[in-house]
Amino acid sequence: MTDFCDMIRQAERQCQQRGARFTPIRRRVLEMIADAPGSLKAYELLDRLATEHAAARPPTVYRALEFLIDQGLVHRIESLNAYVACPCPEHAHGFQLLICRLCRRVEELHLDEINDHLTRRARERGFVVQRQTIELLGQCDACRQASKRPALYAEFP
Ligand SMILES: [Zn+2]
Ligand SMILES: [Zn+2]
Repeated sequence: MTDFCDMIRQAERQCQQRGARFTPIRRRVLEMIADAPGSLKAYELLDRLATEHAAARPPTVYRALEFLIDQGLVHRIESLNAYVACPCPEHAHGFQLLICRLCRRVEELHLDEINDHLTRRARERGFVVQRQTIELLGQCDACRQASKRPALYAEFP
């Protein structure tokens, strides 16, 4: 697993190569997402950012998120309405997310064959895929070990 500083340096390099502006706010938002043990929601990012930048407003956060997603540095989790840092943003990839409903930790899988298969099947029906989101909700190994109870179906906070 890439370490935190490497990840930020790599993101900076990647933006530089593409001529994309990795502004201090964008960097800070990425750092916060990468640093969080689970995924983060936009309002959690805003709360954190506001303690450092009094001028931070929702559009500031949303614009930064949009940029980070466009650059492949962050993925949006549709089912949680939250964000997670991509562990390997250097190349475009299909991905599947394993999302723990208890601790909100997210693991990313890269089974390209699954995305390819779905895209092909959709195309056979004349459907053009513009965005593909594959999210598996459940309980991670750590939470399962810790609880020793059958899966909890707690609602998200
Ligand atoms: Zn990714
Ligand atoms: Zn968990």
